[in-house]
Amino acid sequence: MMMRGVIFFATICHFFSTTFGGINSHTEDWAYSSDTEGPQFWAYAHPLCNGTKQSPINIIMKETIYNETLTPLVPLNYSTVFNDANYYLANNGHTVKLGIELDTRVPIGLLWRGNEYHYHGLHFHWGENDQHGSEHYFNNQSYALEVHIVHYLKDYGDFNSALNYSDGILVWSSVFQTSNSSETSNTPLQDVFKSIDKIINAENKTYINPLPLSSFVSENSTGSYYHYEGSLTSPECTESVMWIVNHKMISISSNQLLSFRLLKGRLHNSSNSVWFENLTNTDRPTQPINGRKVYTSVLNYPTSNFFNKNLTSGNNSISYLPPILETTQNTTTLCKTIKSSAFLTRTASNLFLSCFILAIDCF
Ligand SMILES: [Zn+2]
Repeated sequence: MMMRGVIFFATICHFFSTTFGGINSHTEDWAYSSDTEGPQFWAYAHPLCNGTKQSPINIIMKETIYNETLTPLVPLNYSTVFNDANYYLANNGHTVKLGIELDTRVPIGLLWRGNEYHYHGLHFHWGENDQHGSEHYFNNQSYALEVHIVHYLKDYGDFNSALNYSDGILVWSSVFQTSNSSETSNTPLQDVFKSIDKIINAENKTYINPLPLSSFVSENSTGSYYHYEGSLTSPECTESVMWIVNHKMISISSNQLLSFRLLKGRLHNSSNSVWFENLTNTDRPTQPINGRKVYTSVLNYPTSNFFNKNLTSGNNSISYLPPILETTQNTTTLCKTIKSSAFLTRTASNLFLSCFILAIDCF
């Protein structure tokens, strides 16, 4: 295929320069799994990694604060398939990136709280087994995979300039959970995962069928998310990220994850040895909250509209209602929460009525 003009790279959390088309011959000074270059050592060469607003974090759902100003994201061309563009996957030595090569710069991105963010790229984080891999934890639990779709605030010009501002970067994150079914129903994602075994080694690159970016977020997720202020999750760990972490997870099969764990990372040279990193755990450990607040856009998806309609009229003590991390088996989760929580003991009469109606469907 022809190389096209404008290239949207999927670097993001990973801010480093990379070229494609050759065998990697230079070393890196950071890694995910190393006795001397792992995450606990990143700050020696990358001091921003010792900051006070670092990511990822463990999101304690009952401690998140409902914020009605967290309006839905408005995607720009997220559902568009650019058939005249080249889509590719690349192993950059630290993660799998998805890139789009376009003839012209078209507005792909998001509108959020009055700002326009432009798409920069996306990449994944995964673990050595299905119970581990997402960078963000939810109630102390990790999940199998996390995708980061990275954007920069248009007014700052480009990704690198935006890193200089606390609101310069927006990362839209979705977590994947393994399901009992053999395959995800998301056909475009199936094609992506099938291609990963073509980029086993660092700086391998393969073209894939065009697909919409909406393939990487759950349906109806634009208005149901957590938000907090944090950082890139790998060096330079710049604290410039507005994090948007979806409530709703995406299903993935165990088989679809296997090829991620075969990937090889960059060449390292430490302790008098030269080695290639196995990319089996590409998740940075969770970082201290340090007093930061984590907000939620809705109380419970998909019943948020119902709750909002009933609660915004008076009682403002709604933040203590536990948001539910949405899954494809959300009904079970929702009912379990209703049965076991203090839902039915809230004092506000309108809330009591709302929960009672909800609970009817569960018993
Ligand atoms: Zn990332």
